[in-house]
Amino acid sequence: MKYTQAKWEREDEHLYEPLLSEKDGKEIAVNSSLPDELTRDSLELPDLSEPELARHYTRLSQMNYGIDSGPYPLGSCTMKYNPKFTEDVAALPGASIHPDRPEESVQGTLELMYGLQDYLARIGGMDAVSLQPPAGAAGEFTGILVAKAFHEANGEGDRRTEIIVPDSAHGTNPASAALGGYDVVELPSAEDGRVDLEALDAAVGETTALFMLTNPNTLGLFERDIERIAEIVHEAGGLLYYDGANLNALLGRARPGDMGFDIMHYNVHKTFATPHGGGGPGAGPVGVAEKLAEFLPAPRVKKMNGTYERFDPERTIGKVHGFAGNWLVLVKAYAYIARLGDEGLSDASAKAVLNANYLASQIEYDVPHGPFHHEFVASAGDQDAADVAKRMLDYGVHPPTTKWPEIVSEALMTEPTEIENCETLDQLAEAFNAVATEDDETLEAAPQRTTARRIDQASAARNLRLSWQALSE
Ligand SMILES: *Cc1c(COP(=O)(O)O)cnc(C)c1O
Repeated sequence: MKYTQAKWEREDEHLYEPLLSEKDGKEIAVNSSLPDELTRDSLELPDLSEPELARHYTRLSQMNYGIDSGPYPLGSCTMKYNPKFTEDVAALPGASIHPDRPEESVQGTLELMYGLQDYLARIGGMDAVSLQPPAGAAGEFTGILVAKAFHEANGEGDRRTEIIVPDSAHGTNPASAALGGYDVVELPSAEDGRVDLEALDAAVGETTALFMLTNPNTLGLFERDIERIAEIVHEAGGLLYYDGANLNALLGRARPGDMGFDIMHYNVHKTFATPHGGGGPGAGPVGVAEKLAEFLPAPRVKKMNGTYERFDPERTIGKVHGFAGNWLVLVKAYAYIARLGDEGLSDASAKAVLNANYLASQIEYDVPHGPFHHEFVASAGDQDAADVAKRMLDYGVHPPTTKWPEIVSEALMTEPTEIENCETLDQLAEAFNAVATEDDETLEAAPQRTTARRIDQASAARNLRLSWQALSE
């Protein structure tokens, strides 16, 4: 036996001998079913000891910043702590079951779907829910197709060609509307950052199919006139759509359905566990008022004589995703809601709102508008918001969402979420306030203390390298 620095070889015996034979002077695996040109004749694995390998992966794991490293106040995208128990529940062997199994053998799965439909309907004040759409944006698109089916069924499909969205709306709102074949009408916000009732009154009419709104809106401001807004839209024969990305400000306290919204999506990955940063899977169930229930995507789940059954709503728009949607994300949402209960959910929204207002009061950047709900939008003033974000990384915190919504110049859209304690909020405020005093040169050179320095974003987009390649000598 011969030992080299980090590996051992047995000279007396070839471990793989039974599987290898000789071809063109090279050893090849005889039982390989791969075509010759696809088989390797060498594999250059690095020659490493266990501690070297462990240190390598530990170092890699520390090069990124995540919610487990520190605060992550990414406004609107709500990267909050996602309790680990929801991952445990989703990892249970019974949680993922073949979707084609007969109904009588998957009663537990169907019960969970039924239960989640019910939880979400009650939380949103909606009459019926479909769990199918795989993201918030997909929920919007589904909701728009449901609205379209409704107007068509009323013989108004040809006439109602417009969807109105406020200028503070998330980009997916106008995109979903356009994808649904609608003309997008942008509604300018009033001075106070809310819906301008006069402008809305002038914009709605017999061509209006839908008004899409989120409440509190993307500035974190509650639309106090929501009942009047609903009246204006409904009087014109339009429907009111609720973008549920900000639902964590209302949980257990107020319900979109009670405000007059007819359709909504839930970003369960922003409100009920599942981290969605990095483009991971999410789910965007859609809830509707009674009059729209028959158009929801199929299948839904109902309970008949003690058993759970899938069914297709009478005039369903069809399927919008395979099987039950992004199933394990839904399992996590169910687990989260069941664990927190009514009290836990309303406690979460109270803390989300308290934390946003506390942080807004502690930072020196100008924060127009307010008081806020779960998030606020500060202005970086003369500084470039993107540079502020890069510099905040040097202070060991994740920056807020920047440059959006565009109605606040150099926007720093900040959402501390309900999970942070006062000490962490103060740490965030200190980072904001330190950066606020710095000059452009310092900001433009940031970040200095991160593993990767500032990347060339244009090249990153234009010269894509999608696979790993060893550097050539
Ligand atoms: C995140 C977000 C969306 C889109 O949701 P996805 O799940 O990311 O597709 C829509 N509207 C608002 C206000 C959002 O913050």
